[in-house]
Amino acid sequence: MQLARRLELIEPSPTLAITARANELKAEGKDIVGFGAGEPDFDTPAHIKAAAIEALNKGFTKYTPVSGIPELKQAIITKFQRDNQLDFKPNQIIVGTGGKQVLYNFFLAVINDGDEVVCPAPYWVSYKDIVRLAGGEMKLIHTTFESGFKLSPHDIEKNVSAKTRVFILNSPSNPTGATYTPDEIRALAAALEKYPDLLVVTDDIYEKLAYGTDVLNIATASEKLRPRTVVVNGLSKAYSMTGWRLGYAGGPKEIIAAMDMIQGQSTSNPTSFSQKGAVAALNAEQQCVEDMRVVFEKRRDLAFNLLSNLKGLRVFKPQGAFYLFPDIAGLTAAPGWPDLKKRTGETDTGKIFSTGLLNEKLVAVVPGSAFGYENGFRISYATSEAQIEKGLGRVREFVDALW
Ligand code: PLP
Repeated sequence: MQLARRLELIEPSPTLAITARANELKAEGKDIVGFGAGEPDFDTPAHIKAAAIEALNKGFTKYTPVSGIPELKQAIITKFQRDNQLDFKPNQIIVGTGGKQVLYNFFLAVINDGDEVVCPAPYWVSYKDIVRLAGGEMKLIHTTFESGFKLSPHDIEKNVSAKTRVFILNSPSNPTGATYTPDEIRALAAALEKYPDLLVVTDDIYEKLAYGTDVLNIATASEKLRPRTVVVNGLSKAYSMTGWRLGYAGGPKEIIAAMDMIQGQSTSNPTSFSQKGAVAALNAEQQCVEDMRVVFEKRRDLAFNLLSNLKGLRVFKPQGAFYLFPDIAGLTAAPGWPDLKKRTGETDTGKIFSTGLLNEKLVAVVPGSAFGYENGFRISYATSEAQIEKGLGRVREFVDALW
C-alpha cells in the first residue's frame, strides 16, 4: 500500500509497543506489573464529573467556539493569574483536545520546512515526531545524570543560535522528573533573552506535581521572553483527566490566532461537556490537586528508596512529575549482561533491560531510547504502593541475578 512520505518522518511510539506486549502477556493470564503508563491512577474528582454530567443533562452537546467557550477561557485566565502571575486576554488563550493537540497546533503554526527546534534530552517522546511532521529539524541538547538531567545557561549558549526558531522547555520533565528551581529558570531565561527572534514553548503539564521546590514559569521570570513565549498546560495530570482530552495555551495573540485557525481545520472545538468539567476543575477549591500531589510524593520516595543501592543503577531523585529515570550504563559490566543481550535479541542498553525485565519478570517499563537516552529506562510510579513494592522487588531480583 502506497502511503504518504511524511510517515517516514515519524516512528511508532515505543511506549505503546511495550504496553501492547504487556497486554498480550496479561491476556495470557500473566501477573504483569505495569510502570509504563503516563497517567495518574486516580479517578477524576467527583465535582468535576458532576459538572460534565450536568452539562450533558442540560443539552450542552453542540459545537462550541473552536478555541473554547468564553467561560473556560476566563477560568484559564484566572488560573494563569493565580498560579503564574501572568495576564492574558481571551484572544491570547486557546483550548484544545489535550496538551498534545495544543503543542501540535503550535508547531504547525510557527515552523517552516527546515526550521531548527532546540530541545533538551531526555525529552517527551512526542516533541520529536510533532516537530518533524511540522517540517522542523530537532536539535537535541543531551543532558546527563551528573547535571540532574538539567541544562545550564552554557548549554543554551552552545546550542541555540540566531537560526533557532523554537526552544522547548518542560519542567517538571517527562521522563526524568527534573524540575528547575526558580533561580535556574531565571538563569536559563537570561541566556535565552539574547536571541530576539527565538520563540519559547514551555510545557507545564506537570506544574502541579512538584516536590520540595517552587515551580517558576519562564514567562513569569522574564518580561523580555513573555511576548514570545507560549505557555502550554492541561487538565490531564493535575486533575487526573487524561481521557477528557483538554489542554490549553496562553501566548502572543498572533500565534494563538494561527493555532485557532489550524484547529478549526482539524478537530474544531474540544468536547463541549469536557469543557464544562474543566471550568469546574479550574474554578473550584484546589485541595484535590494537592491531595493527589501528596500521594505522588510518598510514592516517589518509596520507589526511589526501592531502586537505590542496586548495583549498576544510578537513580536520581526527581523533584516533580511521576517518573523515575535510572541510568543503567553500569549494568553492561555485569557478568550476566551478554547473555541477557542474547536472550532479548536487542542491541540498545535500555531495550535489552526493559525487554528482559518484561519477558522474565513480567514488569513493564519504557526503554530510555524512547526519550533520546539509550542508557536508561523510565518507570511511572502513578500506581499503588503495593504495585510499586511488588514490581520494584522484581526489578531488584532481576538486577541482582545479573551480577
Ligand atoms: N506534555 C508532556 C510532557 C506529557 O507527558 C504529556 C502526556 O503524557 C503531554 C504533554 C500531553 O498530555 P495531554 O495531551 O493528555 O494533555
